[in-house]
Amino acid sequence: MIIIDKPFIQTLDDKVYYQAHITDEKAGYANDCYYVAEKEFGKYFSDEVADAFVIGLLLPALQSNQDIIVKAAMSEKLYYSLSNTAIFAYSKAFGYQENKIIPEQLINPKIDSFGVGTGCSLGIDSFSTILHHTSISCEESYKLSHLTFFNVGSLGEKNVDKVKESYQKELENVKKFAAEINLPLISLESNLAVFFSHYDYNFNQTHVIRGMSMVLSMQKLFKKYIYSSGYPISEIHLSGIDPTYMEAMLLPALSTENTELIVGGPNQSRTDKARIISDNEMVQKYLYVCVKDLVVNNDMHYGPWVNIDEGHTRNCSGCDKCLRTMVTLDALGKLEKYSELFDIPKYHKLRKLFMAKIIGLRNKSFVFKDMFNLVHKESYKISMISRILSLIYQFGLNDLYYRFAGAGKNKK
Ligand SMILES: [Zn+2]
Repeated sequence: MIIIDKPFIQTLDDKVYYQAHITDEKAGYANDCYYVAEKEFGKYFSDEVADAFVIGLLLPALQSNQDIIVKAAMSEKLYYSLSNTAIFAYSKAFGYQENKIIPEQLINPKIDSFGVGTGCSLGIDSFSTILHHTSISCEESYKLSHLTFFNVGSLGEKNVDKVKESYQKELENVKKFAAEINLPLISLESNLAVFFSHYDYNFNQTHVIRGMSMVLSMQKLFKKYIYSSGYPISEIHLSGIDPTYMEAMLLPALSTENTELIVGGPNQSRTDKARIISDNEMVQKYLYVCVKDLVVNNDMHYGPWVNIDEGHTRNCSGCDKCLRTMVTLDALGKLEKYSELFDIPKYHKLRKLFMAKIIGLRNKSFVFKDMFNLVHKESYKISMISRILSLIYQFGLNDLYYRFAGAGKNKK
């Protein structure tokens, strides 16, 4: 069993903690799980229900085939949707047995939630949601009232001190943007990661449900929360490798009577979004897509051509996400407008090699298929060397490189 005790709220100095004691019997581990916000926003934590903790711990419970005992109330709608939809979908996607949630009580708390929020990572998906939901063409009740910045794994979680450093550094940039667009920013952190450390998950497999757990901790604030889509809804399917494909089905099943979780931009791919937002001056000033911090802070492999100590621009211009974005902007004829944020000479050195990856993986991943379609549509020149090198990716030889050579691993 995983046992969630009754949540409570406490204020320490200028921070407010929303926490519950958790016991994971199979892992032999017990600790307090917390969500922490600035005092100003701590009043929005919803301690009437344990919803945030339940969905936060759902994947560890499923992987270890444990039921979840909740010694507190849960929102009835969430319990209904988890029991009938989300647990079934996750267990089929990952190949687990279904488990049960056993709450002390089901309630329908009358909370006057009022806000409309979205995450502010400053990436393409995030900018697309923010610009659309602050524009005059956006329907009134969907216009944003708050931005959020969560420390929930996107900056890594293995090296805790380095993650904290990366988060604080990024938070400063996000704060500047939030001030410029004139929306309040909620910085929210959690130690949920420690409850995942006994289990075998990577960030891609957990970020949807962990992010939504953060949102449900603040049901007194969020009436609606727009979660920027990773893939267009046309790509929906069950996936244990990347449950982002399931987000359009999962978000309604993780919603409550008080907080509706909504997919933002479900009718657009990332290159569609890039085409729409790339002329915007705020995007040209703040765009940040780099996953260097995630790679370094989690001791992951990066490409053999990348020197992580190199580079003077905000986006490292050598990681996969930087290169994907630069190829997209280049194909759209906008790259020069981003010369302050990306190292363009470095891009020109790596472009042919990365194009090989796009061609080689276009039938294996929607991300690369979307990019391949864009470069094809824009008549972007593809060299013969990229076409030849694409065979490395097509036949999975790059995986062999990582498996046997071990090269490119960050040793820091
Ligand atoms: Zn990068």
